[in-house]
Amino acid sequence: MPHVIRPLPVHLIALAIACLPLGRTVEAQVADTLYSGGDILTMRGPTADSVEALAVKDGRILFVGTAADAAKHLGPGTTSVDLAGKTLLPGFIDTHGHMVYFGKNLVDADLFGTPDIPDLVARMKRQAGRTPADGWIVGFGYQAREMREGRTATLEELDTVSADRPVLIVDRSGHLGAANTAAFKAAGISADSPDPAGGSFSRKADGRSLLGPMEETALNAVRGRRPPFTGTLADEAITGAARVWASHGHTTAQEAGLGLGNDDIGIVLNAIDRQLLPIDLYIAAKDSAVDDTIAASYTVASQYSAKPDGTREKLLARRPDLDKRYINRVRLGGVKFWLDGSIDTAWFTQPYTTTPPGRTGSFSGYRQIPDEVLDAAFDRFWPTNLQINMHMNGDAAADQALAAVAKAIRKHGMRDHRPVFVHASWLRPDQIEKMKACGAVPTFLPAGIVPGGDSVVKLWGPERAAGAMAARTFLRAGLPFTFSHDAPVSPTPSVLALIDAGVNRRTASGVVVGPDERIPPYAALQAVTSMAAYQIKEEATKGTLEPGKLADLVILDKNPLRVEPATIKDIRVLETIKEGRTVFSR
Ligand SMILES: [Zn+2]
Repeated sequence: MPHVIRPLPVHLIALAIACLPLGRTVEAQVADTLYSGGDILTMRGPTADSVEALAVKDGRILFVGTAADAAKHLGPGTTSVDLAGKTLLPGFIDTHGHMVYFGKNLVDADLFGTPDIPDLVARMKRQAGRTPADGWIVGFGYQAREMREGRTATLEELDTVSADRPVLIVDRSGHLGAANTAAFKAAGISADSPDPAGGSFSRKADGRSLLGPMEETALNAVRGRRPPFTGTLADEAITGAARVWASHGHTTAQEAGLGLGNDDIGIVLNAIDRQLLPIDLYIAAKDSAVDDTIAASYTVASQYSAKPDGTREKLLARRPDLDKRYINRVRLGGVKFWLDGSIDTAWFTQPYTTTPPGRTGSFSGYRQIPDEVLDAAFDRFWPTNLQINMHMNGDAAADQALAAVAKAIRKHGMRDHRPVFVHASWLRPDQIEKMKACGAVPTFLPAGIVPGGDSVVKLWGPERAAGAMAARTFLRAGLPFTFSHDAPVSPTPSVLALIDAGVNRRTASGVVVGPDERIPPYAALQAVTSMAAYQIKEEATKGTLEPGKLADLVILDKNPLRVEPATIKDIRVLETIKEGRTVFSR
C-alpha cells in the first residue's frame, strides 16, 4: 500500500523549499503536527499576540512563530493542519467546577428547566426505566421557584414514580430535595426521626408523617444512603463528565469539593486505576473529606513512585503534598472550605437591600464555619502545597478569610500559597488591597451576572451588584483573577459563556450590571487560560502557547478578539487537544 502523505498548504510548501538551508549542520527537530493558516493566540503577554504557526512534538509545544521558521520543523511524518481561518488558543483551564459531582448527575435524570410537577414525575418515570433494578431512581436540577406550583414534589407524588424503589430528587443548588417512601425507608428515617443539626425533614401538619421535602444535612442523611457508584456506573460518571468538559475546550478540569458524595474518592481512584481520563483533573478535597483524600492520594503516590531507597516514600508520609504530579491525569491540588451561602444567603457586613424570601427583618446572611475551624485549616495547610480554596460571596466571609490568612502569615511567614477566593462576589477596596498583599486569587462566577444578575440587583441593591465580580478593578490594579462556571451550578461548563459574561455583563433581562467592571475580551481569555494556570500553580506547563509547555490546545470557529462582543457567546469549540492528542472534535 502506498504511503499516504497529507498535502501541505501551498504557502508552507513554498516556504519549506525556500528555507531548506544549505550545509546546515544541526537538524531542527521534526514536528509531529504543525498548525497554521488561522489566528494563533499565544496568550503570553499583557496584550494580544498572534503567531503564524505552532509546532507540536511528543505532546509538547516545539515551536511558535512565523510560518517561515516553522517550516524548518517539517518532516515526512509531520501532520500539517490548516486552521482555515479558525482560531487556536491554549486549552481552557477550569478554576472552579465540580466534574465528579457533575458526572454523577449526568447518570441521573436531568430535571433542569422542568416547568411543573407532572413533567418532573414524567422525567423521573423515564429515569426509572433506565435505572438498574437495584439502583436508586435519582434526578437533579429542578428549581422550585421556577416551577408552576412553586414547591418541591411530595412523597406521595414521588411514590407514583415507584412504590417500592427509592426515588430521590435534588434541586439545582444541591441543598434541597425530596424522597419517596422507599428512599426514607432505605435511609432508616421516619416522621419520628429527629432533624439533624443544620437541616430538617418537612412533616405533614399533624407531625405524624413525612411530607417528602428536606433541607441541607437532612437531605445528606438520605442521599448518603444511596448505593455508591461502582463498576460501569463509576466509569460512566467520570468519562461522561470529562467528555462534556473537553467539548467546552477544557484541557484541565476541576473537582472543587471531592467528598461531597461518599463515593467520590472511589470514583476518582477507579479513574486513576483504569486510566479513564482524557484531560487533567485538579482536585480540591472538601473540608470533611480532607484526611480521607490525602490518605488516598498518598497511597496512589506511593504506588506510582519509583522506590530506589524509600526516601521519597518517607518524605511523602510526612508531606503528602510533596507529590505535585498528575498521576494518570489526576492531581490533588487543594482543599475546600465553605464560608457562606449563595446569592440569597451570602454573608455580608451590611444587610440585604431586599430581604430574601423566607427571611424576616434585617438580614445579612450567615457564616458557615467558626473562625477556629478556618484558622486551624490555615495553620495546617498554609505551609504546604495544598492550596486553600474558600467559597465566599459576601464581604463578611472575605473578612473571615483574610483574618485567617493574616494569622497564618504571622505564624508561618509569607508563602507563595495563592489562596483561592472562590466567587468573591462582593469585595470592599480595603479587602482587595489585603488580597494583593497575601497573593490571593479570586475566581469569579460570572453566572452571578448571567443568569443570576437580576436577582443580585434586587437582593444586594444596585451598588453592590454593580461592583460585584470586580474584574476590571483587579485588571486595573494588575492583579490576577479568573472566571469559573461552578458546573453543575451552571448547567454546562461553558467557557465562552464566562467570557461573554465578563465582557458584556448583560443579565437575562438585558440590563448591563456594573458597566465599569466590564473587561476587554483579551483579559477575559486570560482569565480562563494564563491566569487560570497561575491560579492552580501550573503556569510553568500550561496557560500560554510557548515552546516547552504542554500542547494543550483548543480550536474555536471564530476569534473572540475579532467578533462583535455581543456574539462571543455564539462562538463554538471545534476541537480540543490534550498534549497533542485530539480529545474532542465537532
Ligand atoms: Zn462550587
